[in-house]
Amino acid sequence: MNKIKNIGVLTSGGDSPGMNAAIRAVVRGSLYYKLEVTGILRGYDGLINADFISMDGKSVANIIQRGGTILKTARCDEFRTKEGRAKAYQNLVDHKIDALVVIGGDGTFTGADIFSKEYDIPVVGLPGTIDNDLEGTDLTIGYDTAINTVVNAVDKIRDTAESHDRLFIVEVMGRDSGLIALRSGIGVGAEAILIPEAKTSVDELITRLHHGRKDKASKIIVVAEGDEAGGAYKVGEVLKEEFPSYDIRISVLGHIQRGGKPSCMDRVLASRLGVAAVEGLLEGKTGVMAGQINREIVFTPFFKAIKHIDAAQITPAWLRLAEILSL
Ligand code: ATP
Repeated sequence: MNKIKNIGVLTSGGDSPGMNAAIRAVVRGSLYYKLEVTGILRGYDGLINADFISMDGKSVANIIQRGGTILKTARCDEFRTKEGRAKAYQNLVDHKIDALVVIGGDGTFTGADIFSKEYDIPVVGLPGTIDNDLEGTDLTIGYDTAINTVVNAVDKIRDTAESHDRLFIVEVMGRDSGLIALRSGIGVGAEAILIPEAKTSVDELITRLHHGRKDKASKIIVVAEGDEAGGAYKVGEVLKEEFPSYDIRISVLGHIQRGGKPSCMDRVLASRLGVAAVEGLLEGKTGVMAGQINREIVFTPFFKAIKHIDAAQITPAWLRLAEILSL
């Protein structure tokens, strides 16, 4: 017989659109099974400082469509220490919280993995990150919204680029993962996509620009912030030297990629996974992330989920596609 009576829920690391839909699903899923739910504010920071709020069906009303996270999020170095985690566990015991749902990315799951092994507390994770870089789920919560934000922004840039015969270098988020750049780059019809996994050299890009069709009014190059070429400004400097006649502009999209209303895809994914996390805990699962693969709910151990998906394997096909389509 499962003894869980009170589930704590927190959001941690970088925020992503759809986190609110996930919180709502965890709360309502818990209420459905007659469990109490405690909201933990600002991720692991709130866990260590006992910043807890009791949640009911009403406290998550009218949030499914809102970006950000009503529970706030934070980066918390104290949770990396044994002492910090000991305080966190004591707070859970004192407040009779007997299970946790953590919503975040790989850092959040690394902390959760250590914590669930150190202490006798079941923990299930939900993939809340715009990067889509976790094993064990086809999509992470927030990725679909983020790539649509990029596509909408770059479509606008394309209009002005086309009018002025300009080349735009657009920098998108992705320090370690080029998946946002890859998908959105295909979606906007980019002339080239530079990502950390592909070790694309700027020389290659220059060769392509020299040999590409000359009658194009505009050119868009999408660069992931973590690309080894050093980001949009660095690429811009090199191209300006090589192509002095080009009218080159830089646009760094920045934090707009994290905000905004979640897409329907992200709301549905978050809703389904939030309830699955509660049901997983009730079935005795711990140390795992709830994800969706080929439409099925799958629970993947944290240590596997945080092994970044091997994007290097899938990128050549996508980059080839981008090259074919840019002719
Ligand atoms: P995103 O992918 O959006 O950046 P994330 O979950 O990876 O989200 P991080 O800042 O890397 O975000 O991690 C969130 C928090 O998880 C950290 O602030 C820290 O509290 C905790 N954490 C990360 N790594 C560890 C670790 N090795 N041990 C304990 N806790 C950790």
